[in-house]
Amino acid sequence: MDLAVQPFVLESIPLAADTPKNALTVDVEEYFQVAAFERTIQRDRWDATESRVEFSTARVLDLFAAHGTTATFFVLGWIAERHPALVRRIVAEGHELASHGYDHTRVHQFTPEQFREDVSRTKGILEDISGVTVRGYRAPSYSINGRNLWALEVLAETGHVYSSSIYPIRHDLYGMPEAPRFPFRIRPGEILEIPVTTVKFGRNNYPCGGGGYFRLLPYGAFRWMLRRVNEQDGQPGLFYFHPWEVDPGQPRVQDAPLRSRFRHYLNLDSMHSRLERLLADFEWGRMDEVFGA
Ligand SMILES: [Zn+2]
Repeated sequence: MDLAVQPFVLESIPLAADTPKNALTVDVEEYFQVAAFERTIQRDRWDATESRVEFSTARVLDLFAAHGTTATFFVLGWIAERHPALVRRIVAEGHELASHGYDHTRVHQFTPEQFREDVSRTKGILEDISGVTVRGYRAPSYSINGRNLWALEVLAETGHVYSSSIYPIRHDLYGMPEAPRFPFRIRPGEILEIPVTTVKFGRNNYPCGGGGYFRLLPYGAFRWMLRRVNEQDGQPGLFYFHPWEVDPGQPRVQDAPLRSRFRHYLNLDSMHSRLERLLADFEWGRMDEVFGA
C-alpha cells in the first residue's frame, strides 16, 4: 500500500444556499488524554486520574441544545466504555456519533495492522453502546499525512464512510500543507477526507478550524476568516473543539512543558462565551448533513 500523494481527486460539495452551513465537531476526550500531556500522565494512570469528561461534555450538550444546534461527536473508545450513558445522550439529542480511535494513539505510531485493530474495535464499541452505525473517523492530533495515507484505505475497508483527519497546514505537531483544503479523495472510490478548515492568504494556509487558534485569536478575526471561506471560497467550514476547553475548573497538570501548558490553558475562561457567539453568527450542522458523506 504505497499511495502516491498526487494527484488528488477533488470532491465538490453541492451548496444549498448563498451562505453555507458549517460543520460543528467535538473531539470527546479527557483533559489528560491530549498529546501535550502524554509524557506527564501516562495511559496506566488514566483510570486513577480525576475524570471531567461527563461534566464538560454535558456543558457542550447544554450549549448546543440552547442554540438548537446539532453536531458530530468524535468519541474515544476508551471514553465510551467508561461513560456509556454519555454516548447514549449524544445520540438521543440528535447528534452524529463518530470515532476518535480507542485511546488517542496517533496514527503514525501504528502499523497498518494495529491501526485496523484500533479502528475496528472502536467502531464496534461505539455501535454496541449506541445502536447506531458509525460512519466517520478523526485521527488523534490529525495524525494522517503524506507518510501514512494507507490509513485512509484501512478506514474504508473497516466500513468508515468519511475521515476528518488531515490538517492542511504547517505546524510543529501535525499537518499536511500540500493537501487540498476542501473534501477530496486520494483516488476515485476511496474514502472521503474532509479536512479541517483553513484560510488561504498568498501561498499559505492558515488555521481557521478551531483548537488553540480559536482561543488565541480575537474572536472578530476568527469570524472574518470563516466568513471569507464561506463567501469567497463558497465552501462550508469545519470547526472542532474539545469538552475540556469549556472546563476552566479542570485540575492543572503542573509538570508538563511550559509551551504545552500555555497552549492547553490559554483563555479557557472565555471559551464558552466565544462559542456562544460562534453558534449565533453562523449556521451549524452535523458532518453527515453538511457534507452529505
Ligand atoms: Zn483528540
